[in-house]
Amino acid sequence: MSALALPANDNPDWDSGTAELGHVLKPGQLDLSHKVILYLEDITVSFDGFRALDKLSLTIDSGELRCIIGPNGAGKTTMMDVITGKTRPDEGTIFFGQTIDLTRLSEPEIAHIGIGRKFQKPTIFENHTVFENLELAMKTDKRVWRSLFAVLDSAASDRIAETLGLIRLSAHAARPAGLLSHGEKQWLEIGMLLMQEPKLLLLDEPVAGMTDEESERTGELFLSLAGRHSLVVVEHDMAFVRQIGGKVSVLHEGSVLAEGRLEEVQADPRVIEVYLGR
Ligand code: ADP
Ligand code: MG
Repeated sequence: MSALALPANDNPDWDSGTAELGHVLKPGQLDLSHKVILYLEDITVSFDGFRALDKLSLTIDSGELRCIIGPNGAGKTTMMDVITGKTRPDEGTIFFGQTIDLTRLSEPEIAHIGIGRKFQKPTIFENHTVFENLELAMKTDKRVWRSLFAVLDSAASDRIAETLGLIRLSAHAARPAGLLSHGEKQWLEIGMLLMQEPKLLLLDEPVAGMTDEESERTGELFLSLAGRHSLVVVEHDMAFVRQIGGKVSVLHEGSVLAEGRLEEVQADPRVIEVYLGR
């Protein structure tokens, strides 16, 4: 592969000297002995006295694929901001595995220890090929790839090929990313997250704007990732949530209103009230 011009990027994971963060988490240090990967207890976030999160408690099991639903303003995005360190909680605890207190880590540290987040707007490099996008996203010392760049070892190219297969873009590897459809760009960004080997993936409305077929393929992708990764998906599309099939948490006014299978929470009078009573 020829040398690439370094693209401008605004991904916060990418600059601030991640090589120095090695002390935060060594391989195997994530303690999943109680099968819980993410534990939030009594999280409160206030904006000018308004409680966007109000004693929010939530537990995600290792390998789980959890959907989060709830009306606009329920606090879903704020919850992701708090998990990723973008917003600090006023009160409450957040643990990654049994031992890592996320409220003590910075946003880049949290990304580095294995929590990946997908925003709604893709942040792919449009002028680079699909393959190059995945290559650029790989978890390496960025000071090394800034200077060396040229040689991609076979393990790395195998990983890129595997990821291309997972996100079903193998046939598009050599195409500039800017030419992909909206859905394909979303999958590429998920692939870029996967190149960083996250343990936990947070996805905010991943199927918004997708066709029904793209949405269904996205559901299949997430189902195939569960087990190896843990996923927390905020999504309004009920056909998608039904396809995923696991436990659903309903957020309302900054805390969990109901939890269970989709049919159960949809039959809960309190849930019907918050969706219809507005
Ligand atoms: P959701 O994603 O469930 O639609 P959000 O987490 O975006 O909800 O927002 C929850 C509430 O917090 C909303 O009422 C929103 O207006 C408010 N909010 C979110 N972020 C901020 C902020 N930075 N400053 C002030 N209010 C905010
Ligand atoms: Mg939101």
